Amino acid sequence: MKTILLKINRNRPESKKIEVAAKAIRAGKLVVFPTETVYGIGANAFDSEACRRIYKVKNRNVDNPLIIHVSSIEMAEKIAYIPEMYRNVIKRLWPAPITFILKSKKILSEVAVAKLDTIAVRMPAHKVALRLINKAGVPIAAPSANVSTMPSATKAEHALQYFRDKVDVIIDSGPAQNGIESTIIDLRRFALVRAGAFSVEEIAKHFGRMPKITPEALGNKNAKIAISPGTKYKHYAPETPLLLYSGALSRLPYVIMAATEKSKRRFAFVGSVEMCDKIRNKLSARQNKNVRFIALGNRRNLREIAHNLFDRLIFLDSTKVSFAIVESFPQRGVGLAIMNRLRKASGHRYFSDAGQLEAYLKLI
Ligand code: AMP
Ligand code: MG
Repeated sequence: MKTILLKINRNRPESKKIEVAAKAIRAGKLVVFPTETVYGIGANAFDSEACRRIYKVKNRNVDNPLIIHVSSIEMAEKIAYIPEMYRNVIKRLWPAPITFILKSKKILSEVAVAKLDTIAVRMPAHKVALRLINKAGVPIAAPSANVSTMPSATKAEHALQYFRDKVDVIIDSGPAQNGIESTIIDLRRFALVRAGAFSVEEIAKHFGRMPKITPEALGNKNAKIAISPGTKYKHYAPETPLLLYSGALSRLPYVIMAATEKSKRRFAFVGSVEMCDKIRNKLSARQNKNVRFIALGNRRNLREIAHNLFDRLIFLDSTKVSFAIVESFPQRGVGLAIMNRLRKASGHRYFSDAGQLEAYLKLI
């Protein structure tokens, strides 16, 4: 199969091109499309055969349901029950990077929702996505456009790397604005099951109370009960072993200097512009030659860090260094989601001093 690439203007989507992609969806094909969070790989949510192909090309476990994307509240209410008490706030909030787990009306493909009696539903705040769903006239089941376990695609180029000639259409509308997946709220328990682009502080403002924060939402290693099946799998990880620094920030340059002093291995530091500079200044000229600095953005601008995170993790693998170190970020606002992704991307390899880092370096 040859993938068709469609460049579509994010602000003024060309109707003819939208029609090509919508037709592909209706014909049971796979279409990679942009959203404000990350790129999605979409299929008609009524079509089991098409949904099965999503799991196949992503190499995704079939017990891990897909988020169902809608273009209107009416479309959401055709497939799921929106609790009366939440209807108004959802109406006000959507379209937004927030997904709600709702009771299913059981009319969609069982493959799309992994046979659950609930559905994760979202209305994306992206003109191209909304026009596509609207034109297709069906809800679109779409997980993130990455091969399972790997970082999510935030640009069409990433999706091309993962799925060239494995999907029918890839729409390119430029980089995804948020760069991190949607926040998932289980409305039955008013609980956060996945931290994401929409902050819990904002959710609390809209709903008048703070959602319950589950361990899985934080990406904790031993989160036992996974309400959201996908959260239990390895996720977001580059191929390059990633080590997450969890100690005091001011000590990080010293820790890196001490642990890598005698080593000739090439490695990367992934982190804020400020920390890249501090480390560069601390290391000797000889040590600096072994380090590849990959800046995520300004530490005070967590939105920028989130926007760049997956793009830089995908880039990291192209540098062919033997390992990478990443700094921690404050868990406020989108920082909660950033830290969730970093915990998982690092495979829960944390260190807070030079001794621990050296111990990892013997293993990887
Ligand atoms: P992705 O689209 O790749 O970002 O992954 C979608 C996430 O939504 C996964 O973690 C799924 O487990 C979760 N999800 C989808 N449907 C449901 C559902 N009905 N209940 C709980 N979690 C869900
Ligand atoms: Mg995903």
